[in-house]
Amino acid sequence: MSPVKIVDYVKKTFAGCSNVVITAFDDDKYIKEEFPLLAAVSRASNRVDRHKPCVLQIVYTPSNEARVTETLMLIGKGVTYDTGGADIKISGKMAGMSRDKSGAAAVAGFIKACSILKPPHLKVIGTLCLCRNSIGADSYVADELLVSRSGKTVRVTNTDAEGRFAMADALFKLGEVANKHINPHIYTIATLTGHARACYGGYIAAMDNYAARATNHSNRLQFSGTRVAEGIEVSVIRPEDLSVNDGKCKGDDLIQVDMEAKARHHQLAAGFLIKVGGLEDRNVKYTHLDIAGAAGSPPEEPTAVPILTLCHLHKVTTL
Ligand SMILES: [Zn+2]
Repeated sequence: MSPVKIVDYVKKTFAGCSNVVITAFDDDKYIKEEFPLLAAVSRASNRVDRHKPCVLQIVYTPSNEARVTETLMLIGKGVTYDTGGADIKISGKMAGMSRDKSGAAAVAGFIKACSILKPPHLKVIGTLCLCRNSIGADSYVADELLVSRSGKTVRVTNTDAEGRFAMADALFKLGEVANKHINPHIYTIATLTGHARACYGGYIAAMDNYAARATNHSNRLQFSGTRVAEGIEVSVIRPEDLSVNDGKCKGDDLIQVDMEAKARHHQLAAGFLIKVGGLEDRNVKYTHLDIAGAAGSPPEEPTAVPILTLCHLHKVTTL
């Protein structure tokens, strides 16, 4: 399903839900200015209308906003198809990449659950980062220096590390405004790294930044996961998972991914998101969920993780 079809599908799915507001940001100029890293990923797709990117916001607000005690900000990776880009996936590794939007699908699914079960204590701001990582004449390529929404320059090192780019600027923008909301918690949910699957098989890797770790958040997610049969492994972001993303050439503040790194790829991806999202110094709780191993690859059915876990932990229930 392409970005435009996802927008149609989500709108149909939420039709008649008075507690949900949907806004689609798909203007070329706006995407380029506000989500420049996502715009780079989708550059080769722009010539085909149905493959054009869109940042889709879905907001759930309970009927009495005065009762809200927590604001969830959920960012989902919605790479509608991942060819790898110019660093193309070879040897059959592309098969299954239609599922690279499972994170965005989970965000929409969780908000659908909220719209039905109507938790009175939650506000949920969902952001679906929808784009296609195509290959073509205008593909973004390694060595390009991009200016992220935060103003930090990022050097492209492997176009197949597009998921962190797709979500980076949305993360920065939400981080900037998070503390204006009640008790905010930001999540990124993404089929981000083959490394998560290599480490944990079919389970979710959960990683907290410092502020979330102080509340033991991933451990609480893990506990909730055991109650609803969604396995979660708690993975810890170490200082080197942040610093490995630092720029290495003149002019780059950050690199997309350290191609020399021999280990810790799912943790350093989280480190990149923290750095590019400006969440290193900000006192905002942030948890990254890498669902690459858990989302379900063809011929398996999609699993819809981590919707049930989020419902359990954040008390979206019928009780
Ligand atoms: Zn990729």
